[in-house]
Amino acid sequence: RAKRRGRNRSELFDEEMRADAMRLLDLEADLRRAIMHDAFEPHFQPIMRLQDGEQVGYEALVRWNHERRGLLMPAEFIGVGEDSSLIEQVDWLMYAHVVSSMSEYPERYVSINVSPRHFLSDNFADRLLRMLDEADQDPRRLRIEITEVALIEDAPRALRVLRDLRSQGVAALLDDFGTGFSALSYLHRFPIQGLKIDRSFVSGLDGDARTESLALVRAILAMAITLGIDTIAEGIETDRQRDILVEQGCQFGQGYLLGRPQPLQRNGHAGRRRGASMH
Ligand code: C2E
Ligand code: MG
Ligand code: MG
Ligand code: MG
Repeated sequence: RAKRRGRNRSELFDEEMRADAMRLLDLEADLRRAIMHDAFEPHFQPIMRLQDGEQVGYEALVRWNHERRGLLMPAEFIGVGEDSSLIEQVDWLMYAHVVSSMSEYPERYVSINVSPRHFLSDNFADRLLRMLDEADQDPRRLRIEITEVALIEDAPRALRVLRDLRSQGVAALLDDFGTGFSALSYLHRFPIQGLKIDRSFVSGLDGDARTESLALVRAILAMAITLGIDTIAEGIETDRQRDILVEQGCQFGQGYLLGRPQPLQRNGHAGRRRGASMH
């Protein structure tokens, strides 16, 4: 303390920067170790048809079981993973868990997340299709979630990857839709089977900015209808939000109201409301 008082602002600032950099290096080293012994597990969140509450699928969300810090959420490590390209290795470990659990649940499909750089990396589609083939799983039951960045960074390549996947039955959804560039004019050029309406618009539906959120949601839904593709609302937390979405014609949704992300249960049901796995 006494020592600190003697330092000026910029010295303290340097110290903080150094501490931040050290933390990131530690995290990266931890992540490398975690990859070596596969410390990752998917949690699954149910995706429902909003009209009748029928569960149609799951989204797989990565969790890191850290030896000292417990279960870490993606926000704590995806950034470091993306900067160092370690995310690709994390993703493959995740996908292996997801694919090997595919026959344990009865629902139609499971959705996995792919970081933009990973999606555009060499052999992504081949490797994913091979993984499905080796596990004897139907590619039509797997969907990938990418963001608009992945399309915009290298459009010709993105188009090739999407076509390769699509030709074998793997559908692609645009995640966090509405937060990125939303270059609507060229969306129709990509084989995309659905838009995931970002949580910020959904939570806005019964918040202070409800007029704006409603306008955006309606625009997204209208566009999806024109393109003939699915709409999935993210982060539904209230009955009111769900009701508005149904009223506006949104087909599918997920969120804490409908089910939280959970590890796969032994009987093959994940993410259902508490009690569902008791018998
Ligand atoms: P995302 O794909 O947009 O996933 C939705 C996030 O919203 C998840 O956070 C989910 O737990 C959370 N969520 C769902 N319903 C609600 C709700 O009603 N309220 C609130 N407040 N949140 C809700 P999570 O699991 O922390 O994942 C964050 C992001 O990390 C994901 O966003 C995705 O971009 C990325 N991610 C997750 N798993 C993977 C993975 O295996 N690989 C890669 N590359 N990225 C992943
Ligand atoms: Mg997602
Ligand atoms: Mg999302
Ligand atoms: Mg998101």
